[in-house]
Amino acid sequence: MKTITVLGSTGSIGTNTLAVLRLHRERFTVFALAAHRNADKLFEQCVEFAPAYAVLGDAVAAQTLQQRLRAAGCATEVLSGAQALEQVAAAPQVDLVMAAIVGAAGLAASLAAARAGKRLLLANKESLVVAGDLLLQALQQGGGELIPIDSEHSAILQSLPADRSRWQADVRNIVLTASGGPFRQRPAQTLHAVTPQEACAHPNWSMGAKISVDSATMMNKALEVIEAHYLFGMRPEQIEVLIHPQSIVHSMVAYRDGSVLAQLGQPDMRTPIAYGLAYPQRIASGAPWLDLARVGRLDFEQPDAQRFPGLALAFDALRMPAGACAVLNAANEVAVDAFLQRRIRFTDIHRINADSLASAQCSACGSLEALVELDRQTRQQARQRVAQLSV
Ligand code: NAD
Ligand code: MG
Repeated sequence: MKTITVLGSTGSIGTNTLAVLRLHRERFTVFALAAHRNADKLFEQCVEFAPAYAVLGDAVAAQTLQQRLRAAGCATEVLSGAQALEQVAAAPQVDLVMAAIVGAAGLAASLAAARAGKRLLLANKESLVVAGDLLLQALQQGGGELIPIDSEHSAILQSLPADRSRWQADVRNIVLTASGGPFRQRPAQTLHAVTPQEACAHPNWSMGAKISVDSATMMNKALEVIEAHYLFGMRPEQIEVLIHPQSIVHSMVAYRDGSVLAQLGQPDMRTPIAYGLAYPQRIASGAPWLDLARVGRLDFEQPDAQRFPGLALAFDALRMPAGACAVLNAANEVAVDAFLQRRIRFTDIHRINADSLASAQCSACGSLEALVELDRQTRQQARQRVAQLSV
């Protein structure tokens, strides 16, 4: 029996995680569930999974949830605030932590889980983008392990040799696949006019709003390039991105002898979640089977650098001092949020990201404090740019 904390339990990855856990009650118990604001959904989840703890962002909302749970006969204790996230991620009873908070807000809890030696199931790619070196250090110190939940990185882990010491010697490069999102074929000169609703209508995946917009700009793939660099120790020139509109081949590893190994499956996050939960074993995920005859064809094409200028920023950031990736992430979070609030145009997201990276001051960013300060400054400047660009 393994004990798990699910951070971001009310989101897209969080609810998919609970869907897989529901199939394996004899294998996993839930220690804690954490959400930001959605108290109603968290209430339902607590009644179903009876965790020892639940966490909400706000203290007043947490108190109300506590009363509702008591009235429903549920013994879950409700905590609140960012510190509580770290507490339930690092608690000694916990074996696995699903990090499925969105954005840099998930970093502190990911670090806490890593330091405490947990198996960290990392959906929150922003943690690695902002503080890749620190997170890897924390894992090494804590003796824990990091299993990516992002479908591309799960595919790469599944296609790499089990013996990690062979990774550098055997592998030529890795290939991250990308669907191209909802605007792969939309005339580029009309992109300035797209609405948040259009940007969030992903053709293959159903996801939270932030990652959906990131998929439409391909900033999601940019963040994934950085994520792959830290997870697999690949140099920027060893990381290739290929558009694959069907989202069936989830990513590939090209070996020195000319072999290419890939992982295929339906575009369903329950598969990489189940892989992370049971690693190195395989358990049922509830995802539908892949029927290749029905899919019929698999297409691949180079990403269009004009249409998706954000992708190149990842490679630029990886060649700059480490804080540059944190700058890119912070600017992007502010820009996406402003776009979702209809304050800026879709194409302004890239403008803000590129400007932020160009003016990044990130030479001495070895410590968490320095990164947090860099993140704060970048957000402040990006908000000023939003105000200038506001429509
Ligand atoms: P989502 O918006 O659906 O859910 C986000 C969750 O985080 C919610 O439970 C919310 O309550 C919680 N949260 C938000 N801000 C918080 C804060 N400040 N403190 C505590 N909790 C907070 O997002 P999602 O699509 O599930 O994505 C979660 C993470 O997984 C992101 O990093 C995303 O990039 C990554 N990811 C998602 C998918 C997917 O299919 N959805 C695929 C790959 C990677
Ligand atoms: Mg992905």
